[in-house]
Amino acid sequence: MNRIEDFIRLFKTETEKKIVITTHHKPDADALGSSLGLYNYLKTRGYIHVQVITPTDYGTFLNWMHGNEKVIIYDDEVERSNIYIAEADYIFCLDFNNLSRINQMGDHVSRSEAIKIMIDHHQQPDDFALYGISRTSASSTAELIYDFIAADEGDLLINKEVAECLYAGILTDTGNFRHDTTNAHTHRIVARLIECGANSTNIQSALYDNFSLERMQFIGYCLAHKLEILEEYKTALITVNAEELKKYNIKTGDTEGLVNYGLSIKGIKLAILVIDRTVKVKMSFRGQGTFPCNLFSKEYFNGGGHFNAAGGESEKPLDEVVNEVKHNLINYKKYLI
Ligand code: 5GP
Ligand code: MN
Repeated sequence: MNRIEDFIRLFKTETEKKIVITTHHKPDADALGSSLGLYNYLKTRGYIHVQVITPTDYGTFLNWMHGNEKVIIYDDEVERSNIYIAEADYIFCLDFNNLSRINQMGDHVSRSEAIKIMIDHHQQPDDFALYGISRTSASSTAELIYDFIAADEGDLLINKEVAECLYAGILTDTGNFRHDTTNAHTHRIVARLIECGANSTNIQSALYDNFSLERMQFIGYCLAHKLEILEEYKTALITVNAEELKKYNIKTGDTEGLVNYGLSIKGIKLAILVIDRTVKVKMSFRGQGTFPCNLFSKEYFNGGGHFNAAGGESEKPLDEVVNEVKHNLINYKKYLI
């Protein structure tokens, strides 16, 4: 993959070109914040044809982001999206590094003659982009979008709309500045974003203070009745079946953050959430310390992610998957002592 600086030189004056920005399925605040942060920046820079396409829908708690109303959801508008992808000159691929993360869109992006630019912070990138930044030490993709903007025209062009999207991405992907990827550079960027108009209190409120009553009660139910402690592995496990999701009217994005509660328990080194999403069983892993979440989910559950936060999936029944999770922990016990 070629350096982003070479791309910036090429791209600098090409404001007439057709640009698509995409990100991983079920985008979180980093994925959507990076995409709309870049979108708002490019629009401010004078680029005329910029379209954000997400593979799937996302939580309504992200709808406040500027430009949200212009986003196309691939699943809802396949034909229209395919035309944008086929006709694009440039496709920005943000917060993912493997085309399987954008579902059926992946084939179309792969076939498109557009120049692809990957900006991402996950490990083991695939080789589908001509240019990009792949930096696993970065706290978030939003931080890398800031770096991209700084290297392009400088951060004086960051307005409130750009700043708020990027702030949300950094805030959430660092676990509110808790993860060890949060460093001085991250805080300097955040300080700049606040100077550029990001209002931290409002953003946090938009992201965190808008749960439905059912979502809140679902969390309570999971903590009271579905949390299992595997003492031997210093692990907290929550399992959720399809009926429970239905009973509490759980929508896209409503399970976000649920896995983290396990880590707040004293002595717990690993938190796992296993959810029956009907077509597939999805897993989330969050570690504290030396447990390699990404390697574990990759080895057993066709997954990946970061060292401390990863996910995977399985097409087996929920009970079987839970048993497999427990069984496979035996091989990783040395990281959980
Ligand atoms: P979450 O548990 O919030 O769904 O995901 C945590 C991290 O793991 C994210 O960085 C996400 O990109 C990654 N991840 C989650 N599920 C999968 C998966 O099925 N495959 C891969 N490669 N990464 C995943
Ligand atoms: Mn991210």
